[in-house]
Amino acid sequence: MAKQEDKFKHVISHAKEYGYVFQSSEIYDGLSAVYDYAQNGVELKKNIREYWWKAMVQMNENIVGLDSAIFMHPKIWKASGHVDAFSDPLIDNKDSKKRYRADVLVEDYVGKLDTKIEKEVKKAAKRFGDAFNKSEFLSTNPRVLGYKEKGDAILKRLGQSLEKEDLADVKALIEELEIACPLSGSRNWTDVKQFNLMFGTKLGASAETAMDLYLRPETAQGIFVNFLNVQKTGRMKIPFGIAQTGKAFRNEIVARQFIFRMREFEQMEMQFFIKPGTQGDWYKYWKEARMKWHLSLGLGEDNYRFHDHEKMAHYADAATDIEFRFPFGFKELEGIHSRTDFDLKAHEEHSGKKLQFFDHEENKSYVPYVLETSVGLDRMFLAVFSNSLQEEELENGTTRTVLKLPAVLAPTKAAILPLVKKDGLPEVARKIVEDLKWDFNVTYDEKDAVGRRYRRQDANGTPFCITVDHDTLNDDSVTIRHRDTMEQQRVKISELKGIIEQEVSMKTWLMKM
Ligand code: ATP
Repeated sequence: MAKQEDKFKHVISHAKEYGYVFQSSEIYDGLSAVYDYAQNGVELKKNIREYWWKAMVQMNENIVGLDSAIFMHPKIWKASGHVDAFSDPLIDNKDSKKRYRADVLVEDYVGKLDTKIEKEVKKAAKRFGDAFNKSEFLSTNPRVLGYKEKGDAILKRLGQSLEKEDLADVKALIEELEIACPLSGSRNWTDVKQFNLMFGTKLGASAETAMDLYLRPETAQGIFVNFLNVQKTGRMKIPFGIAQTGKAFRNEIVARQFIFRMREFEQMEMQFFIKPGTQGDWYKYWKEARMKWHLSLGLGEDNYRFHDHEKMAHYADAATDIEFRFPFGFKELEGIHSRTDFDLKAHEEHSGKKLQFFDHEENKSYVPYVLETSVGLDRMFLAVFSNSLQEEELENGTTRTVLKLPAVLAPTKAAILPLVKKDGLPEVARKIVEDLKWDFNVTYDEKDAVGRRYRRQDANGTPFCITVDHDTLNDDSVTIRHRDTMEQQRVKISELKGIIEQEVSMKTWLMKM
């Protein structure tokens, strides 16, 4: 656990030190759970967004984009169910005065059981060596089965109690499991209460005429209310999708864990409109497609898993999360929901307008069903960043800090380094920068010994260092160093563009899907 915490602290401090993420309003002591993306962070975030957009919109003939406004008519949130049901069960510890999400306290307890299972697996793997069969061990070891059974029973009961709004039972569960406040260590809890997560604001100049608005808690509703506009103007036929990226706002009760849970964050959502009755097949299709997209980034298959929901949101008939192994354990990265016709029907009812599709083949109109994929851009950022940050032992006994970002996402693709600051080398290096900057984000660095510059670029996640030396003046060749392997190659300046392109182009990476 301590090791995990240290790793996470390292992630946060590295993100600050290398210009990726800053606390918002830092000089005023910060604003809780709000963050700013710095010079490198903004590039990484933009690249993740583009990687998603390309895979969704550009690669699919039947998916188009949208950028709807953050402000929307307040009736939308009534129709969507957010006014009445978008709340979290909260509980306070009377001694520490700290507020928690009751469901998260219970889930964290189950998470500890999962960690125990992982420990058993590690121990057994060591004991049995090559003969170890993980799946057999998981399905037969009595201790593992005991933990699993206990965890499943707890989650089932939690799901059922939340479904029935039986908050007293959620409290009873916390008491039975003897869950203590992580801060005070006490079990002196208040009752569990519901808390609405939407931020309210006002539109209009005078108090009397002002209209109460909400900052959108998800981008999805902007898609639903534009469904017919897009379908008609784009002459879209079912099945088709609308994709959107943008800010969402939630007044999260427990906002810790850095950019994992923020009050202002960005979502990348795609709503796929389908014929009623086909939702089972499409649910399966998008589960697979989205997992393939994640795996294409090469962060390791073992770091992902599906978590199918017991408790469905009010709009869904099937739901799963793609969970990622963050530095604090497996947590939701993306949600895939079969939303039925809940949203479009509700908007029909509340707006009085028809939101239907005329199916020429069947010669009838219907309200389409919807399959949603929804991934948090900030959580993607954290997944990529935390997984990439590594301390590596080198052969000479030293260590290096290296940020092994997927090259396609790295903020800077190459650093151009003159070996020394004289003899015409800076001029040649500058000329290379001038040529490459049309195609890639590149940087020039002449300060310090070249070894230190390599380390700086390693820690910054730059996939290539290109060094100009005295031989360059005669043979038009440079040394290109690969961040991950530290291998160095002598290549012609004219070859640089092709070499970098091959490694960083979205095409190369997306074709792995
Ligand atoms: P959680 O259970 O973690 O609160 P959720 O199930 O409420 O998440 P959804 O409403 O399904 O989340 O939103 C889709 C995605 O948006 C999530 O998978 C997550 O990546 C992202 N997301 C949701 N809330 C936040 C937040 N407060 N900060 C950052 N990202 C978020």
